Order: sequence, then C-alpha cells, then structure tokens
Amino acid sequence: MSAPATDLSAAGAPATASGRRQILVTSALPYANGQIHIGHLVEYIQTDIWVRTLRMHGHEIYYVGADDTHGTPVMLRAEMEGLTPQQLIARVWQEHKRDFDSFGVSFDNYYSTDSEENRVLSESVYLALKEAGFIETRDIEQAYDPVKNMFLPDRFIKGECPKCGAKDQYGDSCEVCGSTYAPTDLKNPYSVVSGATPIRKTSTHYFFRLSDPRCETFLRGWVAGLAQPEATNKMREWLGDAGESKLADWDISRDAPYFGFEIPGAPGKYFYVWLDAPVGYYASFKNLCEKRGIDFDAWIKPGSTTEQYHFIGKDILYFHTLFWPAMLEFSGHRTPTNVFAHGFLTVDGAKMSKSRGTFITAQSYITTGLNPEWLRYYFAAKLNGTMEDLDLNLEDFQARVNSDLVGKYINIASRAAGFLIKRFDGRVQDSAMQHPLLVQLREAIAPIAAHYEAREYSRALRQTMELADAVNAYVDTARPWEQAKDPANAVALHETCSVSLEAFRLLSLALKPVLPTLAEGVESFLAVAPLTWTDAAKPLSSQTPINAYKHLMTRVDPKQIEALLAANRDSLQAAEAPAAAAADANKKSGAAKDAKKDAKPAEAQTPEVISIDDFAKIDLRVALIVDCNVVEGSDKLLQLTLDVGEGRTRNVFSGIRSAYQPEDLKGKLTVMVANLAPRKMKFGMSEGMVLAASSADEKAEPGLYILEPHSGAKPGMRVR
Ligand SMILES: [Zn+2]
Repeated sequence: MSAPATDLSAAGAPATASGRRQILVTSALPYANGQIHIGHLVEYIQTDIWVRTLRMHGHEIYYVGADDTHGTPVMLRAEMEGLTPQQLIARVWQEHKRDFDSFGVSFDNYYSTDSEENRVLSESVYLALKEAGFIETRDIEQAYDPVKNMFLPDRFIKGECPKCGAKDQYGDSCEVCGSTYAPTDLKNPYSVVSGATPIRKTSTHYFFRLSDPRCETFLRGWVAGLAQPEATNKMREWLGDAGESKLADWDISRDAPYFGFEIPGAPGKYFYVWLDAPVGYYASFKNLCEKRGIDFDAWIKPGSTTEQYHFIGKDILYFHTLFWPAMLEFSGHRTPTNVFAHGFLTVDGAKMSKSRGTFITAQSYITTGLNPEWLRYYFAAKLNGTMEDLDLNLEDFQARVNSDLVGKYINIASRAAGFLIKRFDGRVQDSAMQHPLLVQLREAIAPIAAHYEAREYSRALRQTMELADAVNAYVDTARPWEQAKDPANAVALHETCSVSLEAFRLLSLALKPVLPTLAEGVESFLAVAPLTWTDAAKPLSSQTPINAYKHLMTRVDPKQIEALLAANRDSLQAAEAPAAAAADANKKSGAAKDAKKDAKPAEAQTPEVISIDDFAKIDLRVALIVDCNVVEGSDKLLQLTLDVGEGRTRNVFSGIRSAYQPEDLKGKLTVMVANLAPRKMKFGMSEGMVLAASSADEKAEPGLYILEPHSGAKPGMRVR
C-alpha cells in the first residue's frame, strides 16, 4: 500500500493566506425508494468524521446531501403504494433525515433532487453543454412494455437464463448459474411491471458526447490529481491509451412516463436520473447558500479557490470521475478537487443477508437500543483511505467497543473523577499538567488529526488506543486506590488524578470526530468549551472545577445483537411485501388505535394551561380536501389528499369514516396540524392530522365534526 495522502496540497488543495480553507463536501445521494442500512452508513460516517475533523481546525466547511428522487423505480414504487411520487419521496426524506440525525451525520443541509434549484441548475448545465456542442440525438431501439406503455430499464425485464434455463432471472446475469448475458438473450422475457412480453421499439435519445476529444484531453489531465491510486488506475483503464479514447457517449434521456425533469425543448423527454443526481449536490449547496448568505457563484465558478470533495462508494466511481467532472468542465463550472471512494460492507464475512438478519437498517439499530457511536467507532477502526471492503464482525464489534471504548478509555475518567471531586474540590493540580505522559499525548494529537484528514481512521484510532494503554499503565503503577488510603499521599494522589483526567481530555479530543455525542458529555463533565485541535495545548486548570462524573457509555450486551438480528429478519420481509408491511405496522403500533387519535385531538379530559409559546409550536393550516377516499379494509378511516399550499399534496388518514362519506368532503376546506411528525400506519404514511370535534362522552352523545373555516380562507393559511 502506498503512503497515505496526508499532503492534500498534492491533490490540488489550495489554502488561503490565513490558512483557513473553504471546503464543500458531499456524500453520495441515497435513492428515495428504500431505507438507510448499515451499508450506506459506512459512507456517511466516513464523510462525517472527515468533515468534523476539518471543522475542528476552524475551516469554513459545508457538508451537503440530498435524497436522489427521480427515475423509474421511484415512479413505480409510488404507484404500488398508491401514492404520488412526491408523497413517496416526502416520506422517505423524513425517514432518511431521521436516520442521519440518529447517527450524528452532521449535514449542513439535507435536501432533495426534486427541487426548483436542481431543475434550474440541471437545465443550465444541459443547455451550456448543448451550446458547446456536447449534446446530440440518436435513435435507439429498446425494450418496451406494450401494456404499461413504457420503455423498460434492464432491471425491469426478467426471463429464463439462456444457459441453464433457470426461471425469473434478471436481464444481465443469472443468479443460479452465474453466467452473464444481454437482456435480449433471455428466453421468454417478461416485463416485471405488467408481465407482458416486451417488444422492441425505437425512440430518440439525447447523448452527452463523452467521446469528444475535448473530454478525453480534459480527463487525462484531471485524473492526475486523484488521491487514490486505485481510482487513477481505473480511470486509465477506462480512458485507454492516449489518442484512442475508449469513452462511449452517455445516454442522458428517458422517455415519458418518467419521474424527473423534462428536458428543455424536448417534450416527453426527461433527464436520466444520473444527470440530475450529481447536480443535486450543487442544488443542495445553493439552497444552503441562500439560507446562510454564502456567495454560491464564488464556490462553483472556474478558478474558484474553494475545495470540493465527493465521498462515494467504489461502484459509482465511473459517474464521479468521468461524467461529473466533464459535465462541470464543459458547462462553465469548477471541477471537483478530489473524489474519495470506499469499499463495500460485509457482515460476518458475507454479503448482508436478509435471511440471516444482517441486512441491518439504521432505524432497527436505533430502536433496538444500540448506541450509534459504537458503530461509528467500529467503522472508523476499520476504515482507511483505500477502496478495500470492510467487514462488520459482530463478535469483534462487541469485543472492541467493550475493551477499547469502555475498558481502556471511559474507565480512565470513572476511576479518577471520584477522588478529585471528594478530596480536591474537583480541581486539578496545575503543576501536574506538564507531566511527561501528558506531553507525549499532546504531541500525538496533530499526527492523529492528520491521519483523520488522510482518511486513515484506523491508524488514528490505533494510535489513540496505544495512548490509552499508556495512560492505564500509568494509573496501574501509581495505584491511586492505595494512595487514597494514607492522607500523607494526598499530593501524589492529586497528581495521579489530575494527570488521568487531563489525559482523558486529550484522548477525548483525539476521539471527538468519531464520537461527537460522547465528546459533548466529556466537555460538560470537564467543564470545558467544545474541544478543537488547538485545545491540545490548553490543559485543565484548577480555576475551573470539573463536574461530578456521570456515566458516559455502557458496554454492548450480546442480547442487543441478538435482538438486532431478529428485528431485521422480521422487518425486511415486511418491507418487501406491502401486505406484510401493513400487518407488521398494525402489530407494532396498533394502527386502529392511532387512527382514532386522529379524530380526537382534544383527548385530555382536564386540559392543562399552556403558554402561548407552547401553542405556537403547533402549525395549524387551512387545508383543501383535494380528494377523499374510503380505505379498503378499514371501517374507521378515510384517506384524505390535502393541499396546504406547499406545491404538493399530503396524504392523511383520519378516523372519521363513521361521520362522513368521501363525497361529503371533497373540495371542502378544513384545518390540519401541518407539523406533526409523519406516522407510518397500516395503510401507508399519514402526513398530518385534521381536526374534528366530538363529545367528551362519545357513547352518550356520538358524532364527529371536522372543522371548516369561514369562506374566504385559502389553503396554506396559518391558523392562530
Ligand atoms: Zn443460469
């Protein structure tokens, strides 16, 4: 393995005279038709640790992300769930955002590619490329579903393997015999969407001319700046020998029906999702710039002195090292400073498996009660700057968290804090702050920070744990529990505890990019300001006593791992079949009970007094009931499609079936709680709640009455 790329200037990173760099960082955009799982989290955790490292240097750094929302799979999934694509992506966005927040992934902005900013940017990139002669049209023949009236992406065609005859195989390879082939080779092919036999049909497509010699020349130069030798090698393979470019033109259009942006001047043609997905990085950043008053153009124009990094999985290197830089270069933008690719995650040495329960969703990890920072630590302990795959070995996971984090690190604080509080008023001995052990630790901080920046996290943590070993050896030699027995040893005991706690502060600093929540706990325990890298040289002081030690982290219990695997064996089956999902949601949350709550917001029999601020937290809006339907299989619910003036509609289930027929409500105005967290119900996601009045004693006086504003009110108006 080659030397780590600690020297970022080699990768073209400029720095201002003050040394304060301006850095834009992205992670790949997760697709909006599924849940975040631990395989995804490798990348977000990797990026987040890097971003936090650079923030702790005081650089101006922005970390942006978004849901990748367009394309056929989202369109079909929404249809299957009886939602509009916008409803589906709104729900998934909430779920993704929740998961990233849970794992401490500190996006400065998390957005959506289905945004106005992205439409405008995608169109302008396309039009600039067209202007520069990089776009051409060509007629191509493609598989077409004659029942559904749509062109079929390869993965929506199945059939019998041409080699072994296995049924229900995808168009590119056979899962039974492992052979690969073209979709046209399949025997008895059928459309996954309708079951119909696909026909061949011709259509005009738009291409980005990557074969243009200008692209080749540009990319040959750009590749020289890549940080990862593996990426450079891949690029050279794709580019071929000089003068004989192997780059093929890129099909950037899809035909209607398609969920995406229509191509300007090309009715019925849409940008292929992979065109507007990377542009989505800029759209999210633009949205952030507008919110924070940052000069967007200064960051994206050619010759910008800012830095731009993309963290990605190795499977999408092609898009990020060929199409994306070429698109930027020839549409009048700066190009990425670097692209950092990582490998894939295996669990216990094998691909994540639904049947074994190792296809672990982020949400299941949280709801099972595991600490997200355990996983951050474990991934970091395995991550380096290469594209090597990494393995989550569940036994090793428990052992490492328990022995490294709790055994070696946390215990340093718990052993020393009690004595310092009880005997020394919580104040350290200032003269102890220059102990040789502490000098050694302080000197190690800058190299550890550099390892993080070079994405050599495993090296950073290995060094940190070696330092923790040294601190434990020091404590074992000093034996504070013996020192404490004889009052004559008070000065020595004070020194031992002071050195221990300052060492703990320095170790916490070294771990902070990986364990941000724990670091906050440490900062409040030690009564210090949020730690940055320069704080290595600012020791604890007797001026500020520490606070009483509170437990900072528990051990992993093997039972939690068993529960996690069990939860994923169950829920994954549920996620695959909507019917099963419905049963599951019903079992877990009691959908019928939830539905009833919809109708009875004023449940409290003896209302408490609340402040105006409490009331202001509730975002009540006038809503137009655009559509209203009965819910198959429920005698309590109505499904409402509500317009609250957001440019999209919301789906709300309400337990008012006993009082209303759908046609009574269609076209009427009502009042809804617009900022209620979306709730997954048996029949889908409910994105709010409509208000209805009912008697305190419904048995004696039945009846339900939804609210209706006086005439003149408009959808979206605030009620207050
Ligand atoms: Zn086969």
